[in-house]
Amino acid sequence: MSVIAIDIGGTEIKYGLVSLRGEVIFSSSLLTEASKGVEQLLEKIYKIVEELKNEKVLGIAVSATGQIDGTIGKVVGGTNLIPGWIGTNLVEILEERYKIPAVLENDVNCAALGEMWMGAAKGKENFLCLTIGTGIGGGIVLNGELLRGENSVAAEFGHIQIVKNGIQCGCGKKGCYQGYASTTALLRLAKEKTGKKLNGKEIFDEVHKNSMEYKEIVDEWADYFTDGLATLVYIFNPSLIVIGGGVSKQGEFLKNIFEKSLEKKVMKNYLDILEIKMAERGNDAGMLGATYLLLKKIK
Ligand SMILES: [Zn+2]
Repeated sequence: MSVIAIDIGGTEIKYGLVSLRGEVIFSSSLLTEASKGVEQLLEKIYKIVEELKNEKVLGIAVSATGQIDGTIGKVVGGTNLIPGWIGTNLVEILEERYKIPAVLENDVNCAALGEMWMGAAKGKENFLCLTIGTGIGGGIVLNGELLRGENSVAAEFGHIQIVKNGIQCGCGKKGCYQGYASTTALLRLAKEKTGKKLNGKEIFDEVHKNSMEYKEIVDEWADYFTDGLATLVYIFNPSLIVIGGGVSKQGEFLKNIFEKSLEKKVMKNYLDILEIKMAERGNDAGMLGATYLLLKKIK
């Protein structure tokens, strides 16, 4: 038995089959082509389901970008990256069409659950997940369950204001956390300071070559990152913070920079029980977390 798992990102749709024990049996991907709108996206989802569906498939588990009410499986907010996406009740559409159970949940919430089920947060019940990418996404797990909030849009860490009258954010407000601590922000900072346009990996490559200039840039960016992180530590008193997104490939090196920076901002008793870990399931985390939720729904 298996589950069809689909992870819809802004640029790519990852999909595959996941076993009931959390093994990714098969996976592939295709381009989202977000700007073509929701009808095109639905056609792609149908194609994936029809390619993978057989009598051994228990349901369809979808992780997706945007603000999603996972309790009903509907997109309730976010940016207009995929025209028409907001307002779509994907679970209703899929269950009606294929007569098998479906779930839809926000991608970072899914990543958190995927890491809890099969990755860096195994055995943990109180932890936070942050993904650093174009923006900053968040997931909160308390007592082994997602904290969704009244509107099911809790954990939008990226839009916490950390600088007064700061950089304009895509959400319409100014000074948001993600404007200073996302990968986008790191690239901007590096360009401002050096005049050169490097990508994230190239910036870290420079640091590994002992460039003081780039080390200072990364330290400044990490300082913004832990400004937000410190606030979250005081609110949630987590035992673990899992950091995902492309920069998590920097592993222990970046983890140490974050830890040193956080030490200056948070009291010792919070830090004594706190572990920072880089995500372990990378690209699979969203599919795994969505599958975890589907299996819970079926039970
Ligand atoms: Zn914002």
